Amino acid sequence: MLYDNPRQRTDMMRSAGASDSDVWEVRNREVRFKSKSGKVIHVILTLSTMVNEEGRIIGTVGVGKDISEQKMLQFKLAQSEKLAGIGTLATGIAHEINNPLAGILGMAEAIRDEDDMGLIKSYTDDIIQYSENARKIVRELSNYSRSAHNVGEAKVDLADVIDNSLKMARHSAVFNDIQLVSDLERGLVISANPVEAQQVFVNLIVNAVHAMGERGTLTLRCWSEDGFVKAMVRDTGSGIPEKNLNQIFDPFFTTKPVGMGTGLGLYVVYKIITKYGGNIEVESLVGQGTAFLLRFPPAEDEVY
Ligand code: ADP
Repeated sequence: MLYDNPRQRTDMMRSAGASDSDVWEVRNREVRFKSKSGKVIHVILTLSTMVNEEGRIIGTVGVGKDISEQKMLQFKLAQSEKLAGIGTLATGIAHEINNPLAGILGMAEAIRDEDDMGLIKSYTDDIIQYSENARKIVRELSNYSRSAHNVGEAKVDLADVIDNSLKMARHSAVFNDIQLVSDLERGLVISANPVEAQQVFVNLIVNAVHAMGERGTLTLRCWSEDGFVKAMVRDTGSGIPEKNLNQIFDPFFTTKPVGMGTGLGLYVVYKIITKYGGNIEVESLVGQGTAFLLRFPPAEDEVY
């Protein structure tokens, strides 16, 4: 009665059977069961073997916990993450495309009212230039989203990742009077999906730029130390109040106004870094700035 189809039951029975070596082992597995109403629910099943006094296996005891709601929340969170990513990108695109579009429009209007052939030609040159800018932006962004889906884990040079991230971040945030200090050791290789690695640094850089507002210094560093590949993104911005420090990596934690922040940036950063066996620490002083320190294990076969 509990199963979606009879084959599922046979498979379950087979995998649930304990061999002599793991009689005392408690086994957890996630399964799909059918509830009384016919609805499919996700269940985490804890199984242990029942033995008699002689130690012979006489059955299996199973406790099932309905985790459908948890599953649903996980799914929703994953969806929101994707949407947040799209949102940030869309804002970036809108901003970036708007500038050349405004230029093209202005030049076209000027041409309409102009009879001087020489001037008209120079306006058209401007239009071509603006259009090329727009095309470049579209190309960069579509490379970014295409590779996000197709690329698996690869060996990537962290300095290249950081360079590319800075380029991308310039599309998502306005770098007013921000000085850049970049000290990137070349040739430090980690194993990661390059697009995800890039997302880590894009998010950190965009946050840093937001925190600095009009002016400040953004420092990007990567180096090797104690057998790890390390990186730092430091800003001279607003800093993070101590009471917020243990919440900034939580999903949906944001201090930015509605429509500005999603609260998912650092959560995604944390998820990606830990997925590759790395870690991230933050040091911050209100009014002075913030530094995020990242540590990655080197790619296989690399020794630092
Ligand atoms: P969002 O940027 O959408 O708010 P994040 O998860 O990236 O989401 O960041 C969460 C919060 O952490 C921000 O709202 C901000 O308060 C704080 N924060 C993150 N990075 C910095 C930084 N470099 N300087 C100051 N505050 C920061």
